[in-house]
Amino acid sequence: MKERYYPFVNEPLPYDYSALEPFIDAETMHYHHDKHLQTYVDNLNAAVSDSEELKKMSLEQLIINAEELPEGKRSAVKNNAGGVYNHLFYFEELGKCEDCKPQGELAKAIDTEFGGFEEFCAALKKTALGVFGSGYAWLLSDGGKLKLIGTANQNTPLTEGKPILCIDVWEHAYYLKNKNLRAAYIDNWFNAVNWSRAEALYRS
Ligand code: MN
Repeated sequence: MKERYYPFVNEPLPYDYSALEPFIDAETMHYHHDKHLQTYVDNLNAAVSDSEELKKMSLEQLIINAEELPEGKRSAVKNNAGGVYNHLFYFEELGKCEDCKPQGELAKAIDTEFGGFEEFCAALKKTALGVFGSGYAWLLSDGGKLKLIGTANQNTPLTEGKPILCIDVWEHAYYLKNKNLRAAYIDNWFNAVNWSRAEALYRS
């Protein structure tokens, strides 16, 4: 993702709120982007605003260096910078898709490492269902090698590999439409992925 610095802004979605219907509904997108992400943006700006040192750090630098920050800043920066990064990543990765499958190098890597696209989807779904409580499931590239991990809360996987895809499994991502059915949301998510963006990240 592009580098971002304080003051962080909640950029508009790169598509209409209803663009992902019927898989992800417009009301969920409104609340998720305009309310939940906005809160992380506001809280991160508040945490950074009184520190010249923190203002010089990019969003990714804030995340990677969060554990070294003064104790009074550490958790506010870690949680809110993670919340901003993870949501920007998630909203950027979504999009209307035609056949909703990866192409090119990413498709080849998925076939090689997971035994096919169906098997990959099942493994990613299992990872997402296995996140206890709130968090994310991620597809990472570690020097070209693909791996799946789950992260808790607003933790990010930046030290473990390059993010290619993530599924936000906080209940706010699906409760309005799917209520408690995380599996139904995940099945829908696979129909709302901008696979060319995932491919571009994999090749970058
Ligand atoms: Mn979320």
